[in-house]
Amino acid sequence: MAHCHRPPCNHNQVLNLVKLRDRFGPDAPAMADDLIPKLRCAKCGGKKVGLIYTPDTSPNAYGKAKGGR
Ligand SMILES: [Zn+2]
Repeated sequence: MAHCHRPPCNHNQVLNLVKLRDRFGPDAPAMADDLIPKLRCAKCGGKKVGLIYTPDTSPNAYGKAKGGR
């Protein structure tokens, strides 16, 4: 996710990584340091955008890993 750090905006936006790849090419590095300068807040147009990685894990993931004992 991208998060705008510019108050009072504080806009949160889910990044479409496929779209980013289409835009910057398959060879573009997907590191935050490389992406952040290219990102802009869709709401206020501010460039103070930070990235938050939210792993796609369901709440049950830990329970399953334990083996149900
Ligand atoms: Zn913003």
